[in-house]
Amino acid sequence: MIYLDNNATTQTAPEAMEAMLPYFSERYGNPSSVHTFGREMEKVIQEARVCVAELLGAENPLEILFTSCGTEGDNTALRGVLAAEPKKRHLVTTAVEHSAILNLCQRLREEGVRVSLVPVDSKGNLDCDVLKKVITSDTALVSCMWANNETGAVFPVGKISEICREKGVLFHCDAVQAVGKIPIDLKKIGIDLLTLSGHKIHAPKGIGALYVRRGTRLKPFLVGGHQENGRRGGTENVPGIVALGIAARLARENIVDENTGVRALRDRLEKGILKACPEADVNGAISHRLPNTTNISFEFLEAGVILQKLSDEGICASSGSACTSGSLEPSHVLRAMRLSLTRTMGSIRFSLSRYNTGEEMDEALRRIPKIIADLRSATPSAMERTVAH
Ligand code: PLP
Repeated sequence: MIYLDNNATTQTAPEAMEAMLPYFSERYGNPSSVHTFGREMEKVIQEARVCVAELLGAENPLEILFTSCGTEGDNTALRGVLAAEPKKRHLVTTAVEHSAILNLCQRLREEGVRVSLVPVDSKGNLDCDVLKKVITSDTALVSCMWANNETGAVFPVGKISEICREKGVLFHCDAVQAVGKIPIDLKKIGIDLLTLSGHKIHAPKGIGALYVRRGTRLKPFLVGGHQENGRRGGTENVPGIVALGIAARLARENIVDENTGVRALRDRLEKGILKACPEADVNGAISHRLPNTTNISFEFLEAGVILQKLSDEGICASSGSACTSGSLEPSHVLRAMRLSLTRTMGSIRFSLSRYNTGEEMDEALRRIPKIIADLRSATPSAMERTVAH
């Protein structure tokens, strides 16, 4: 198997796996307990908090709040800010956010919140002037992803944070796809809340974190006990937190070297596919992109069929967001970029990680062009399509 679907989820790092295992067996104490056994758990949670804070360049580890996943981080940020600012009933976000934001915004609309969606251009770039214009005195929060999960497009979060500061509005950033792939330093950039997810950075599923800048007013989303300094009720996922701490440390230590290597592999794969497959093209801007992602359209072919053939040949890829694959709906991200339907419907995302190798790229480049050529030979050529039309 060649796994090229790392934006959907990643392999847990062996180091993270090894570190978490004792917390399923002999080290099972509850961090809220007053006895020594419990206090030890509290200590390892704090160590992990420091690792996550260091990965993000946060001022203070207490700005890190552990969650169960990226979706929970996003829900906590939006709902928590709206609850703390009950007089403000307007949110600004983008048309290409993950469903964790867009479906939540839909729900918030039903609850009476006004939501503005900022559009993108055909390369997936955000129009910051539009963003600036839609912010009003009623706006509680701007929520904008750092990097897009489908195309890998990286948004100008520095500029967005300046606009938010100028307008006096809080800025939440869904950085689920950016963390671990591009350097982040929250000391240098004015983000008030930032979401990350463990399973995208080689920690297991079921753990995530939300950065909350000191002084940001946020009501808890999960109401219960006083865990996480009263900001999230619920007994902590100690094994997951330990693993996330290790994954964060590995990501910080290796980010530059690792991503240079991953970028080279991605570029080799992308160039090879474009060279060998007619009517293939990259979706979105080539610059300002995550180093691990390429989204390629095989125009006039059907993504579901391509994915099935790839899977039959041992290649795991995706037709965009994992949460919408399996449905025949065209990607909302590619539609927002106003790509043609024939292009949108034939788009495949390949996303790499530190565990991919050059040999895998060579093998993928032997298999993919053949799969595409076979599908093309079973599909009318562009010339035939034009004549038939
Ligand atoms: N935000 C983005 C940009 C994502 O890519 C994802 C997952 O793909 C999420 C949020 C949701 O994260 P999780 O699967 O941890 O809930």
